[in-house]
Amino acid sequence: MKKCSLEVSSIETMGLLDGPGVRVVVFLNRCNLRCIFCHNPESWACKGREYSIDDLFETILKYKNYLKNGGVTFSGGEPLLQSEQLISLIVKLKKENIHVAIDTAGYVELTSEVKSVIELSNLVIMDIKSTNSIGYKQICGGKIELQEDFINYLNTINKEIWIRQVIVPGINDNEQYIQQLNDYIKKIKNVTNVELLGYHGMGKVKYKELNLKYSLDDTPDMDLNRLNELREKIDF
Ligand code: SF4
Repeated sequence: MKKCSLEVSSIETMGLLDGPGVRVVVFLNRCNLRCIFCHNPESWACKGREYSIDDLFETILKYKNYLKNGGVTFSGGEPLLQSEQLISLIVKLKKENIHVAIDTAGYVELTSEVKSVIELSNLVIMDIKSTNSIGYKQICGGKIELQEDFINYLNTINKEIWIRQVIVPGINDNEQYIQQLNDYIKKIKNVTNVELLGYHGMGKVKYKELNLKYSLDDTPDMDLNRLNELREKIDF
């Protein structure tokens, strides 16, 4: 039976970080990765609030006047795990000329629903977890092949891509990794923006509340000066 509601973790109405312009950012529940730096662990387990597609559409539409140079970003969790329901919502948003971005790790099977969501959206914000299989496993517990299948698929369609990479002290805050990242990004077509995001431990408190182990307890927040040095080495 076709699903007609979306599980939502939270909604940010004036987001400035997740795509161009002012955006409504809808954080959808469920994720099949477990990134060591995740600051949305609440999206892994609990069910969140269920919105019908119409209710979520009406909620977003209230902000339409603020979104003229921005739009809506579906983030998570992993938004593509609710692709079946997202299709109808994105179709409705596009009829209102609202720009739609998908913030994804691309760690999903490439079903026809996933492909439809990507093809309907204006922008894919691709969260690279690592450029190599050992780092990928260490950072998010997954297999890099799914990320690579997803990128190969993106390379077959003409979609605007933003790249994001979290930089974690002691793990990937070095020139060698940034060079690998530069080489990796060169293989992705239509990239218009690359962002290095510094690790911060602000999500730690949520792990305590959810009784989950936090594996970066001893890791300091990413130093901003060092992050800027690494940003300057991005060859883009
Ligand atoms: S993919 Fe995103 S939501 Fe999922 S664990 Fe990683 S950071 Fe958290």
